[in-house]
Amino acid sequence: MDQQLETLIDLQTLDSRIAGLEGELARLPGQIEAIRAAVAEAQKSVETLKGKSDAARKDIRAKEKDLEVSAVKRQKSEGRLYEVKTNKEYSLVLGEIEEIKQEKSRIEEEILALMETQERLAGEIRQAEAELKSREAQGQQEESAIRQRLAAVEAEVEGLRGERGSLARELPRDLLAEYEKFLRHRGGLAVAQVLSVEGAAICSGCRMTLTPQRLQEVKQQSALLTCESCGRFLYWLPDPHQ
Ligand SMILES: [Zn+2]
Repeated sequence: MDQQLETLIDLQTLDSRIAGLEGELARLPGQIEAIRAAVAEAQKSVETLKGKSDAARKDIRAKEKDLEVSAVKRQKSEGRLYEVKTNKEYSLVLGEIEEIKQEKSRIEEEILALMETQERLAGEIRQAEAELKSREAQGQQEESAIRQRLAAVEAEVEGLRGERGSLARELPRDLLAEYEKFLRHRGGLAVAQVLSVEGAAICSGCRMTLTPQRLQEVKQQSALLTCESCGRFLYWLPDPHQ
């Protein structure tokens, strides 16, 4: 095989691996973000529930004050029972007292309902806190695994770039420039294998069928040849089964 073609194939292999790893490097921080967002969401659930519980506690306190006010009102009204002069006034005050009693039992019912709410919220808070704790622990584990992967991929990319640098120096400058131009403009693939698909020889880069003439030339591999359709450098690997 043509030495330059062989170098180009090796270069393409390295560049494809580098591109794959760079893609992974670009995705990994997003995974860390997603883990942190899940923990933040669990944190927010806890805070929301605690806010509701606080509001219920304040409501209970306010209603307990209402009960005190109601008790004072009742005491006053009961005192007035001894001061009124007429039966009409007496039944009026009795009516007031009855209203105050009803108000008291209404407030007591409301307090009871709020206490039930608080109890339910306390259970939900415990559950949400447990969920938060497990998400934090899981998140820490996952994040540290991702950071390890990041470091490993960064090291691997660095190694491959070094390898690529020395390989690239083996090529004439203009050939390397052409290769890199195709790499940029042809989706990261500048060197394409010719594949045999259902009896036809196609360029694996653009899927166009090669002319028999071009296929023969590529099979000889005595010179650098490009795809007549996409311009990528072509190479042929003999079928190992034949
Ligand atoms: Zn092509």
